[in-house]
Amino acid sequence: MSLRIVVCVKYVPDATGDRHFADDLTVDRDDVDGLLSELDEYAVEQALQIAEDADDAEITVLTVGPEDAKDALRKALSMGADKAVHVEDDDLHGTDVMGTSLVLAKAIEKTGYDLVVCGMASTDGTMGVLPALLAERLGVPQVTLLSEVSVEDGVVKGRRDGDAATEQLEASLPAVVSVTDQSGEARYPSFKGIMAAKKKPVESLDLDDLDIDADEVGLEGAWTKVDSAAERPARTAGTIVKDEGEGGKQLAAFLASQKFI
Ligand SMILES: Cc1cc2nc3c(=O)[nH]c(=O)nc-3n(C[C@H](O)[C@H](O)[C@H](O)COP(=O)(O)OP(=O)(O)OC[C@H]3O[C@@H](n4cnc5c(N)ncnc54)[C@H](O)[C@@H]3O)c2cc1C
Repeated sequence: MSLRIVVCVKYVPDATGDRHFADDLTVDRDDVDGLLSELDEYAVEQALQIAEDADDAEITVLTVGPEDAKDALRKALSMGADKAVHVEDDDLHGTDVMGTSLVLAKAIEKTGYDLVVCGMASTDGTMGVLPALLAERLGVPQVTLLSEVSVEDGVVKGRRDGDAATEQLEASLPAVVSVTDQSGEARYPSFKGIMAAKKKPVESLDLDDLDIDADEVGLEGAWTKVDSAAERPARTAGTIVKDEGEGGKQLAAFLASQKFI
């Protein structure tokens, strides 16, 4: 039977762009270009490698996000994924990680899966907690932060490199894994891949399709609330110390004043 892999990919505001908060303290997504979260490219790459090693596998890429999030799906399809699912609904505005994990879990159950592959964190929210929430909601094992991953005989195996130790981990399928930026360079989409992606199916789902009530998501359903947010102050010019014999002392005094030493 075909190995069904679902890769969760997030469409994020470009970190090099000028990002702002909207009046309701959510990120103003209309104001900045977006792209497939760089860390999720590693998840797509690992899914492609697992599929290449399997006799028969199908990769679905899944995103919860606004209309433009289709760009992230197209990139993943052009890398080689087979099909895509896009969950979009006006009521998702302001959804926090609890709501996002609920929506993703329902969409994954509807799609059908043996293995869910996530990135280690998104490049905007960077909570790194979604894969664990997803595993809990789906009621399956989680093997997170893997720098090496493979699937054999219904078991997913992987290596997690920690500060103090390297662990070899495994879990029986179905399972959720997340992979790190050490798992291997993500491939660039080829011209052929980009053309093929245009013809691959993209299914659109909304909250009704997933039997989710509007009050379970959005700002109303969020477990967390942003009370205030302030723009980061503009960079000021640095202090240049001219070394006329006292440079070392002045440097030490500066570091001490900033509580670095
Ligand atoms: C339309 C919309 C509006 C939102 N508004 C807010 C808001 O106002 N306030 C707020 O706190 N949060 C909001 N969120 C949720 C937030 O952007 C994150 O999606 C969510 O909190 C997950 O946290 P994270 O990005 O830190 O994920 P992490 O836990 O860092 O992500 C780990 C991995 O989970 C997967 N993943 C994460 N998010 C998604 C996704 N959306 N689709 C597919 N895979 C995903 C990826 O594989 C990623 O690498 C909104 C989300 C959407 C879609």
